[in-house]
Amino acid sequence: MNILDLTITQLHEGFRNKNFTSVEVTKAYLENIKKTDKEIGAYLLVTEGLALNQAEKADKLISLALSGVEGNGGDFPLLMGVPFSVKDAILVEGQKATAGSKILENYVAPYDATVIKKLKTQGAVILGKTNLDEFAMGVSTENSAFKVTKNPNDLTRVSGGSSGGSAASVAAKQAVYSLGSDTGGSIRLPASFCGVVGLNPTYGAVSRSGLISMASSLDQIGPITKTVEDCRIVFDAIKGKDPLDATSIESQISNFKSEIKNIKIGVPKEYFGRGINSNVKKIIEDAIKKAKKHGAKIVPISLPNSKYAVACYYIIVPSEVSANLARFDGIKYGLYEDAENLLDGYMKTRGRGFGIEVKRRIMLGTYSLSSGYYDAYYKKAQEVRQIIKEDFIDAFKKVDLIFSPVSPIPAFKIGEKTDDALSMYLMDIYTCPVKLAGLPAISLPVGNIGKLPVGLQIIGKYFEENKIFNIASQLEKML
Ligand code: GLN
Repeated sequence: MNILDLTITQLHEGFRNKNFTSVEVTKAYLENIKKTDKEIGAYLLVTEGLALNQAEKADKLISLALSGVEGNGGDFPLLMGVPFSVKDAILVEGQKATAGSKILENYVAPYDATVIKKLKTQGAVILGKTNLDEFAMGVSTENSAFKVTKNPNDLTRVSGGSSGGSAASVAAKQAVYSLGSDTGGSIRLPASFCGVVGLNPTYGAVSRSGLISMASSLDQIGPITKTVEDCRIVFDAIKGKDPLDATSIESQISNFKSEIKNIKIGVPKEYFGRGINSNVKKIIEDAIKKAKKHGAKIVPISLPNSKYAVACYYIIVPSEVSANLARFDGIKYGLYEDAENLLDGYMKTRGRGFGIEVKRRIMLGTYSLSSGYYDAYYKKAQEVRQIIKEDFIDAFKKVDLIFSPVSPIPAFKIGEKTDDALSMYLMDIYTCPVKLAGLPAISLPVGNIGKLPVGLQIIGKYFEENKIFNIASQLEKML
């Protein structure tokens, strides 16, 4: 048995049976990070001291629980003592949070994100902060101001983005699980490219407090894990209403016991058309056939307005980005460039602190929000967003879940698309419609093209993450 292969439940059982301690598990992960991360580049910061400290505390709490003196029947939280990594856009008190940007290079988080608070309460162990595209804008981590995270399955290829460091850390056994964030695909795409499980929760299911904002009407934090069961455990630990995020709400729907043989799966024809790699298509179709063989009813559906999703997304996101990133003015946070006057200070700080993709989006967004263009771009995009959402709502009157690819192609070569922003934007073609509708979706690894993993996207109704988990874990066992 290799400790690094164990899932959350297996680690929990191991702690309970005193097979190993959290300190031992944490050390094994820290060693593996030291051994492998020079090549992969998943981490921006390894919090070794913090991790060992938390692991020691967890071990004390576990032995107290097991001795029964706490009167809890030997129970302790599932995530206690389990080491994880965090995307560097999520705040951990006292640690740097760069969002992958020079403008926040030396910024230290003054408080914990709500998700971190929740995991700390469970006794989880933080290994470090993972690499991302600057302010989560990108599909490959090539937009990080610091380094590119390589795909552990093939070091010449990208890990996906923007949560590429998180997905790579789980795939390379440098963390048991990770927290990422998804605005247009940033959890599901790297999960698909790296061959791990990644959940984009329903908008509002998880608090965004302490997540450095990109586009607030779309941003969601979610888990990246080895298995579907692990994904459910982490999601259950981080979800819920939070007074610090007015858009968060308590999930109303919980424990479904859905079985694959009773389920209706919608397959949108628009998601299998032009532009999809034929091997990806075959792997996704084979997964659908497998579900059918086990009794699922396959229903052809149409999401006709999804073809506008990328265009719509790339108006709404830059607009929100231009507003959200106005706060990085050299005064309130991070980098400050000495200047003659206020305007000069803004120009120097933002000019030097932001990378090219971030600047492109701030300019596009400022333009589409400006008077005279607001109606033609931003307002129009909001209307299109509505009809994309209505397509999904209509489809979900007929089916329980929707199956599609996560990405039209597997992980591409590092550098292959860096000069072509549009071809990067097109990578979001199957993931961003889901976000515009606010729906939950998981990426489940269902096959490989050579060394390169391919993820199936399973989209659910609002707050029906449990149905997604049930069906995904049944499928996971069939593969
Ligand atoms: N690739 C998309 C973008 O660049 C999605 C990013 C994300 O989900 N954070 O906007």
